[in-house]
Amino acid sequence: MSRSSAAAICALLCMIQAPSPLGADVKLPGTRGLVQRLLGNGGDSPPAQNSGGSPSPKANDSGTDKSAGSKTRQKITLSPGSGAMRSSSGSGEFSQDQDPGKVAGSSGAEVPLPGNQSGPWQVRVRGSRHYVGSVDMQRFYQFPSHQFDGKHLWLRSPSIILKASVGSSELLLNNVKFILSFPVLGEGDQALFSRLDLSKLIDPVLRPTHITDGSAFDTVVVDAGHGGHDVGARGVYGYEKNYALQLSEALREALQTRGLKVLLSRPGDEFVTLTRRVAIANQTPRCIFISLHFNSGGSSATGIETFALTPQGGAASLERGGGVNWSGLVGNSHDSANIALATAVHAQVVSRFRLVDRGIKRAQWSVLSGCTRPGILFEGGFVTNREDGLRIASPSYQRMIANAIADGIMNYRKALSRAR
Ligand SMILES: [Zn+2]
Repeated sequence: MSRSSAAAICALLCMIQAPSPLGADVKLPGTRGLVQRLLGNGGDSPPAQNSGGSPSPKANDSGTDKSAGSKTRQKITLSPGSGAMRSSSGSGEFSQDQDPGKVAGSSGAEVPLPGNQSGPWQVRVRGSRHYVGSVDMQRFYQFPSHQFDGKHLWLRSPSIILKASVGSSELLLNNVKFILSFPVLGEGDQALFSRLDLSKLIDPVLRPTHITDGSAFDTVVVDAGHGGHDVGARGVYGYEKNYALQLSEALREALQTRGLKVLLSRPGDEFVTLTRRVAIANQTPRCIFISLHFNSGGSSATGIETFALTPQGGAASLERGGGVNWSGLVGNSHDSANIALATAVHAQVVSRFRLVDRGIKRAQWSVLSGCTRPGILFEGGFVTNREDGLRIASPSYQRMIANAIADGIMNYRKALSRAR
């Protein structure tokens, strides 16, 4: 990150740190509906599952926990659309099916704390990294209930349930999975979260009205991954590039129906460089950027994952996601908007359908690193999995996913409009 952009980020964050009494600055009760917009829980009721049970953030990893949220989710059973084709399986550009161990990132000392910098946060240095405690989080975000059994943490309010486990990088907010930059620690009667995760993930999701780095937009640049000679992942029934194009067309229709303008980075089966895709977004006024992909991996790998750019000092969630983002990138100027957009879109998709939630993850994908607009990369299932592949090849599935993504974008827009 350049010195000037780092200063700009600091200025943005400092704007929301005007000294004020605890609570007066947070204003959580009035924002809970907006939090739920991001998290995909439109009403005031808690999530259908796990609201009182033990946190089980690993439950979805095997792809076997398809009953999660079954009371509120649709079961999708579809046949492949016409023109489905078979090809040999292989690795696509974004083909990862396992999360490597985290590498060391920065201490996080440079990351401003939410609210009042000198207020409720007791910063604890563990190893070389800064952490904050879940008791401080409970107070700041006004959770009536804090429960920690030495391994599992629950923070509960009538509308928001946060769950995490010591030693895990997975965080559940109303049963939507997030992958933290650093594992949760346990200490005494509370859990510890890295300062970076607090400021760059938890806070913008719990306080979307305080996000100041996402400006108003009326246009969505929809980027269908791959194209032309770059076929992307080779699936059981077809190529990723074709499914991405189909989804982009369905998303264009869904967004236009909702009153937004849409620009496709590639309107047909053509090769477009990553640089050109970013340039299209950066040259389009009042826009956000959505890159659409499908995954490849082992035959059992399944589910949905959404990427937001790794914050400076954090580590990518995937081995090939760019490692540690040491110096910062252009796209980090929208860190809060990026994670809010990822949350809104991902939550809509995984909470509406019975699809495995692989989490909201971090990576330094090229299309996100250089983007001067808020942006995300969405992976709509595994073309290398037979069940996923059947769905992905179906125009009905494409339309349903497109509508969920579009609703997520509208939720993001509503949530952030209250911040301005
Ligand atoms: Zn791809």
